[in-house]
Amino acid sequence: MTDRRPATAAVQAGRPARLAGEPVVTPVHREVIYEFESAAQFAEIMADSRRGYLYSRIRNPNTDELAAAVAELEGAEDAHCFASGMAAVTAALDLLAPPGTRVVAARQLYGQTYSLLRARGDTALVDVADAEGFERALDGAGLLYLESEANPHLAVPDLPRLAGLARAAGARVVVDNTIPTPLGCTPLAHGADLVLHSATKFLNGHADALAGVVAGPAELVRPIAERSLDTGSTLSPDVAWLVRRGMKTLHLRVERCAANAAALAEFLAGHPQVAGVRYPGLAADPYHAVARRVLRGFGGLATFEVRGGRAAGERVMDRCRVALRATSLGGVETTISHPASTSHRQLTAQELAAAGISEGFLRLSVGVEDVHDLIADFQQALE
Ligand code: PLP
Repeated sequence: MTDRRPATAAVQAGRPARLAGEPVVTPVHREVIYEFESAAQFAEIMADSRRGYLYSRIRNPNTDELAAAVAELEGAEDAHCFASGMAAVTAALDLLAPPGTRVVAARQLYGQTYSLLRARGDTALVDVADAEGFERALDGAGLLYLESEANPHLAVPDLPRLAGLARAAGARVVVDNTIPTPLGCTPLAHGADLVLHSATKFLNGHADALAGVVAGPAELVRPIAERSLDTGSTLSPDVAWLVRRGMKTLHLRVERCAANAAALAEFLAGHPQVAGVRYPGLAADPYHAVARRVLRGFGGLATFEVRGGRAAGERVMDRCRVALRATSLGGVETTISHPASTSHRQLTAQELAAAGISEGFLRLSVGVEDVHDLIADFQQALE
């Protein structure tokens, strides 16, 4: 069209012609709206009688690609992306535990999830290892909420057993699978109704994107997606693209993080300045047996406590040269953090003690660096 005026050209000129050849990597689809061939097609998409794109708060090609990849890895029928892991947690709770639903949750949970559940006032918290306690608490409950490996306690629930107890009590099961990743655990196969992720962590793996995903049967994911239209907790296409790219190396990163974490945990367990180490791969770990049954591999997280309490722990953190003093987890860099003053600062001293988080407790998210450099770093930091 050559007779258009400058204002029209400013808006429409230069739209690329469709050439042969598909891009190997999905482009970032920043568009918010889509054009239709006819009014009838527009109406069909709007009415949901034909699948298509309409407005990117609903879905866009990048969030669709990420959701499909997570669904496949989790063995789920469908998945929906969110702007953060907490948005995914909130969406799952909104659907399966509306006000009036009694929730039973593990006492060992990520701090923000813990405070979200505590704020409801109708949540019973039970120690991960206390199956009888779960059975009692589940009587009359509508939802069981667990982390397949708890942050930062690294407690591993017996998912098949607890999901069976929930089912017998008529309760649904939601599992946050952020730490094992779908490569290390597939909670739906163990009886969960929904599985969710902070995709900010291992799925993305590069500490440069904040995202969440919920996966499960279409009959549960569909209402979650519909509700997200109201809440506007949509994941942006740019961030979905970053997470999807990060996921292309998930298997390589998870393998290397776990090998490095196992070696570091062994080293720390043998160090005279270390009072205790928690890593589910250690034979002496209280969750080793259940982890062998429920997880595939033992993951990239470990925790340890330095003799001398908080001051000694802070000294080790200050002396680290390879491990970075930073929060979050699941990235390619090894990070060290102090949960009592960071990720779990919302907990009272009593709650910290009940959850097994002491003042000197340090969490390691082990990255993909050379393991010799990591061990040497902690060797010098503990001197
Ligand atoms: N679930 C777990 C296990 C987490 O560790 C976190 C964050 O650390 C979240 C959920 C929340 O995720 P996000 O920070 O992406 O909102």
